[in-house]
Amino acid sequence: MQAASGSTVVHAMQMTKHAGPLQAGTYSLPPPGPGETLLRVEAAGLCHSDLHVWEGSFGKFVSEGKPLSLSHEIAGVVAATGEGALKFKPGDRVVLYPWLGCGQCKVCHENDDIHCVGPQMLKAPKRDYGLNQDGGFSDYIMVPDQKYLVSSGSVPSHDAAPYACSGLTAYSALRKAQEANLTADDYLLVIGAGGVGLNALMLAGLVTPAKVLVAEKNAEKREAALKVPGVVGVVDSNGSSKDCVKRIMSLTEGWGVKAVVDFVGVNETIQLGYRCARLGGSVVVVGLFGTTDRLNMPLAGFPVFDKTIRGSMVGTLGEFEELMAAVRDGKAKPLPVETRDISHVNQAIQDLADGKVNGRVVLTHPHASSML
Ligand SMILES: [Zn+2]
Ligand SMILES: [Zn+2]
Repeated sequence: MQAASGSTVVHAMQMTKHAGPLQAGTYSLPPPGPGETLLRVEAAGLCHSDLHVWEGSFGKFVSEGKPLSLSHEIAGVVAATGEGALKFKPGDRVVLYPWLGCGQCKVCHENDDIHCVGPQMLKAPKRDYGLNQDGGFSDYIMVPDQKYLVSSGSVPSHDAAPYACSGLTAYSALRKAQEANLTADDYLLVIGAGGVGLNALMLAGLVTPAKVLVAEKNAEKREAALKVPGVVGVVDSNGSSKDCVKRIMSLTEGWGVKAVVDFVGVNETIQLGYRCARLGGSVVVVGLFGTTDRLNMPLAGFPVFDKTIRGSMVGTLGEFEELMAAVRDGKAKPLPVETRDISHVNQAIQDLADGKVNGRVVLTHPHASSML
């Protein structure tokens, strides 16, 4: 909506205090300045991180009189562009890479925003959407540089949005696992097949020719995992880790797997992955459930067995561009999505907190009638 001054009135569902209901509010954005782009948000995913930010477990992000719009999975249509912003024009359909660094440091200049240490080095703030600046629960957002926008082509906004976090997290972890050059004869073990783990099973074929095994405690999730093409074996990881390792060893003719991606990330699963990895193998840790865990392992195993344990956090802008190219070309299987109107966002947050959500809830704004 254009106000008289050329500024845009933004309608948002805002967090005014941690763990309180989001409230409808408005504010205005000026016309885009040089290089900037005004994005009309059609769809915004609700991520577990939003829940943690809302609860306050990631720290304090709102203060009196300074509300915040959550959501970093944002897709929509270019509404207006500033001088020199030429990659996309008004009407173009895009999805946002939301993990902006400070924009001033060495890694930001290398388009490696995800590894920005600006806040410590330069005292310049990071600019992550839904965290350090308003996210997709606002119906318009400002984007400082079109390099953060990627075409969504003919993919509907509600399907495109979740690739910005959930999809990219899975994709980047798979790429790190594939750095060991897995072939069609090798095995990849995915630990945890809910949420992002399930997305990884859907996207695995894009990244690796390896045969995929799954370790998962929940019977329903095991069943769902087994239906994904490329998954050749599913193991119940309840009970002793020794039994689980034995089953993986027998499925891999005694060799073990060449790479593991752990979407749980507790002490027990990291050790399970490490034991299932063959000599020279690697474990990529993505899950954040073990926030208070400490890893206690015999250190000699790292050199003696030539094994690697590494982490993975979301993904880079370059990886996001690759992933969206595959999505636009129809090569990536659609991620499971449930759409709800933004006015029902508080119920959606409650459902996510109660564990009642399967797949991704994506909130749509009322003006999203142009969605394909
Ligand atoms: Zn997220
Ligand atoms: Zn930076």
